[in-house]
Formats: sequence, C-alpha cells, structure tokens
Amino acid sequence: MEFTAEIRKATEPIYKKISKAVPEIEWPSHAPYIYEINKLKKEKNAVILAHNYQTPEIYHGISDFSADSLALAVEAAKTKADIIVMCGVHFMAETAKLMSPNKKVLLPDMTAGCSLSSSITGEDVRNLKRKYPGVPVVSYVNTSADVKSETDVCCTSANAVKIVNSLGVRKVIFLPDDYLAKYVASQTDVEIISWKGTCEVHEQFNDEEINEIRKSNPGIKVIAHPECPPDVIQASDFTGSTSGMIKYVKDNQPEKVMMVTECSMSDNVQVDNPNVKFIRPCNLCPHMKKITLPKILDCLQNETNEIVMSKKVIEKARKSVERMTKIGR
Ligand code: SF4
Repeated sequence: MEFTAEIRKATEPIYKKISKAVPEIEWPSHAPYIYEINKLKKEKNAVILAHNYQTPEIYHGISDFSADSLALAVEAAKTKADIIVMCGVHFMAETAKLMSPNKKVLLPDMTAGCSLSSSITGEDVRNLKRKYPGVPVVSYVNTSADVKSETDVCCTSANAVKIVNSLGVRKVIFLPDDYLAKYVASQTDVEIISWKGTCEVHEQFNDEEINEIRKSNPGIKVIAHPECPPDVIQASDFTGSTSGMIKYVKDNQPEKVMMVTECSMSDNVQVDNPNVKFIRPCNLCPHMKKITLPKILDCLQNETNEIVMSKKVIEKARKSVERMTKIGR
C-alpha cells in the first residue's frame, strides 16, 4: 500500500505519540494500514480491541480499547458496535463472544493460540471432576470456552487469590497454569489441585537473568507477571497482572524498570511513561505476533474469521465469568 501525502498527514499525530517505540523507517509500511483500518472501522461500526502484548502500531495506532483480555471483553460488551475485532489470541476472542453473544467477533488469525489454553480440554476438566467429586473448579481466563463451560468460577491473575478464598472450601481444582497455582497456594490456606499448563513465554525467565540485570542496573525495579516460575517471583520487587504492572509503573514512576513479561508490553507502557527507562528482556509471544495490520485489515474488509460457538457453550461458559465478576475483579 502506498504511503501518500494524505496518509502521512492524517497519521502524523499517531506517529508523534509512538515515535519512541516504532522506528521512523517502519512508519511508511504501517501508516497506510492504520489509515485504512481506522476509516473502515467507522464505516462498519466496529471496535478494535488490543491486548497489552500487541505491537505498538496496533496498540496505539488502531485500537479503541487496550487492556488485559477480560477488561477488553467487558468494555466491548458495553458498546453498540456491530463487529468486534480481537487483536489477541483465540481464547480472548471467545471470551469477547461470551460477553457479546449478539455481536460479530472476528480474530485476524484463527491459528493464534496460547500454550496455557491449549494445555487442557473440556474432557480433561470432566475427568478431574470425576477424580475429585464435589471440589469446585476455578479456571484462569486463559482457557477455551469449552473449559470455561466446565468451570464453576473463572479468575484472572489479578483476582485469583480472592476468588479461591471466596469459595469458603478447603480444596479447589485450579487450572491450567501450574505457576499461577503455585503463586495462589503461597497466598492462601486452601489446598490447590493444579494442572501442568505453563505459558511458553513466561516460563523462559529465570532468577539468574534478573540478578544479572540488577547487578548492571543498580536501583532497578523488577516487576513480574504471576505466570512466571516461582524463583522469578521471589527475585522480583512486585508481582501483578498486566494491568497491575501498568498501574505500578504509572503510580511509582521508577527511574528504571524491568517488566518480566511479554516484550511488547514495555514498548506500549513506555509511550505513556516517557520518563521511565525500560530494561527489556525480550521474550515474544509467537501467537500474539501472528496478529498484524494487513491481517486485521483483511478480516475487517471481508468479515472473515468469525468466532462461532453453540448457544449452550456460550451460556454455560459465560456463567463462570459472571460468577467471577460478582465476586469482584
Ligand atoms: S503470552 Fe503466554 S499466556 Fe499469553 S497468549 Fe502467549 S502463550 Fe498464552
């Protein structure tokens, strides 16, 4: 697509905002797509959701809402849009559909998966329930709708401990993230039966890497996502969900910070916190990176890659999310 003078002028304010995160040489290849997508989404009454791990040109260039997966689904449900485009992975698009069953939900690349979500199926949950009769199932939001439909109550990394404690039971099945389960177990007296799922991005970090970075950056604040292994959590100054990490930076304005999570998040948070120096450990999520501007434009133009689920699954799975929101996000 051609980078015309008209497109240069129209997209200049966006580039000014993200110029620290996107090299100038790349802008002529992004700007025409950003221009077309922003035009088309108005014509089609569509909203574009961008997860915190999307690249800055998507996150800051075309999205109407940018946040974690659940906040995105909740915000999109409040709108009067006819179409939702999820710039994220498959389970996120499903979660958006659960919360907006009458809207058309599109995912620019249907193969954008997640190692946590794909670690477990609805059948696996049914087997666990047979093995531990009467024990409630708490599922992390990073699960398919099929798994959510077998779940008593959903949780996020921000409220997992609160949800587990709220059930008033001695034992829960907590899935699928084994590291998040360990983190929750360290914060509660409830016995946790976990599953062996891991995030292929967060499991790559280790405490040695953090200690090395601390040595060469005295005073740095290290903030980690709870999907990280326990040694990483231990070596960090703060542990929190993606929204918790963003709030930490915004409120504390540390001189230097290392966000132990997917690489693009530092780029995105940098844009809104220009005085903070980000030391970037670069682990990219290959699934998130399947979402690109050309694919977004294509799926919006042709309304392809629609998320379709049975009414029964939508209703059952939505209940587990609604129970969570009643307990408190
Ligand atoms: S970063 Fe990890 S949890 Fe998030 S989508 Fe990628 S694989 Fe899944």
